Amino acid sequence: MFEKIVIANRGEIALRILRTCKELGIQTVAVHSEADQDLKHVRLADETVCIGPAASAGSYLNIPALISAAEVTDAVAIHPGYGFLAENADFAERIEQSGFTFIGPKPETIRLMGDKVSAIKAMRESGVPCVPGSDGPLGNDEDTNKRIANDIGYPIIIKAAAGGGGRGMRVVHSEANLANAISLTTAEAQAAFGSGVVYMEKYLENPRHVEIQILSDQHGNAIHLGERDCSMQRRHQKVCEEAPAPGISPELRAKIGGRCAEASRKIGYRGAGTFEFLYENGEFYFIEMNTRIQVEHPVTEMITGVDLIKEQIRIAANLPLSYQQDDIKIRGHAFECRINAEDPESFMPSPGTISQFHAPGGLGVRVDSHIYNGYRVPPYYDSMIGKLIVHGDTREIAMARMRTALSECVIEGIKTNIPLQQSIFNDAAFAAGGTNIHYLEKKLGI
Ligand code: ADP
Repeated sequence: MFEKIVIANRGEIALRILRTCKELGIQTVAVHSEADQDLKHVRLADETVCIGPAASAGSYLNIPALISAAEVTDAVAIHPGYGFLAENADFAERIEQSGFTFIGPKPETIRLMGDKVSAIKAMRESGVPCVPGSDGPLGNDEDTNKRIANDIGYPIIIKAAAGGGGRGMRVVHSEANLANAISLTTAEAQAAFGSGVVYMEKYLENPRHVEIQILSDQHGNAIHLGERDCSMQRRHQKVCEEAPAPGISPELRAKIGGRCAEASRKIGYRGAGTFEFLYENGEFYFIEMNTRIQVEHPVTEMITGVDLIKEQIRIAANLPLSYQQDDIKIRGHAFECRINAEDPESFMPSPGTISQFHAPGGLGVRVDSHIYNGYRVPPYYDSMIGKLIVHGDTREIAMARMRTALSECVIEGIKTNIPLQQSIFNDAAFAAGGTNIHYLEKKLGI
């Protein structure tokens, strides 16, 4: 096992990683920007290194500074968390070239999955069901593109191969708008992502977002840990998540999960990963793979009892998976609410000092957060300040626990989205289960 790890992130995920390192007896190095010396995990780490200014371009995205932090502290591995450089193949490559271990997939896997066209091709070849589409990048020939769209059937969606964060996509309802939509998306993708490669997919009108968690080691073992439903979204950003997804039978879970585990083995995947699907009328359609730990990983931990960060670290240390597929049993139901420092109505960020914080508690309640009384939420980073996670024997019990936890949670001095989360957990359609990805925006009237 590694002796010392650099945690190349901030906030709740840095604290989450630190906690597992402590459990494993691994020394921790917290790197932080000049604005972040008061972060909770920085106070708790064995060593700390200031890596640059508040702006993340000079600190959390500064590859040379992160690698020198590992060098000066004699660390052996780097955990990227999520966001920042977690899916940056160049970062993974530079880490390995400098003689350290990147806790994540091989750089070439990150590259393969980072390009959506190559990811879809690899998944098709591995037997993972994909959205009917263009089978590769679109060319310039208008007639060919019209024929592809007609074969798929309108509406279709034009997507950037290098796209991310819900950007670089355009829905087309009829042939009259096709050529224009392709050229606009190409130009936007070129400007935003440095690559104008676009492809075409069937546009699914009312899907849910259901994703499969996998773990794959360097000894040819891969397992799935069931699914998460992340359909409650605003502007393609997940707001709350649950596991398992309502209405997915154990047979369907085993089938789609098995396909994902098999695909992970085939591509030589290393670490924890997520296959994201759109789910409509009982069918799964792969859209992309995330090659990192995800924000919503705790709901899977709650229903399986598996520490996903621990498995990530073990896999990176070349140890075999601690579990076989048969060891993974789904128990009960879990929800996660993302707590953001933002106005619950306008969604404007609300940084500032937290004057009062009382965490909720009780059976089945977990709080993953770096905040404390007097902590100042800086304006420079993502507005998420923590996650409230609950578990219960049934979905109803878990929902009731979330309602209680939300009502117990006191965060004063800044605005938070807790009122929005309360309205979701009091919503009849959400309580019934299975609302689609447009539901929240419709409810909010946007
Ligand atoms: P990103 O990497 O930008 O998150 P994704 O490919 O994951 O891009 O798509 C983001 C979101 O866009 C999906 O969660 C879904 O809401 C919508 N979307 C993408 N592809 C389709 C599709 N074929 N049909 C309907 N909606 C889609």
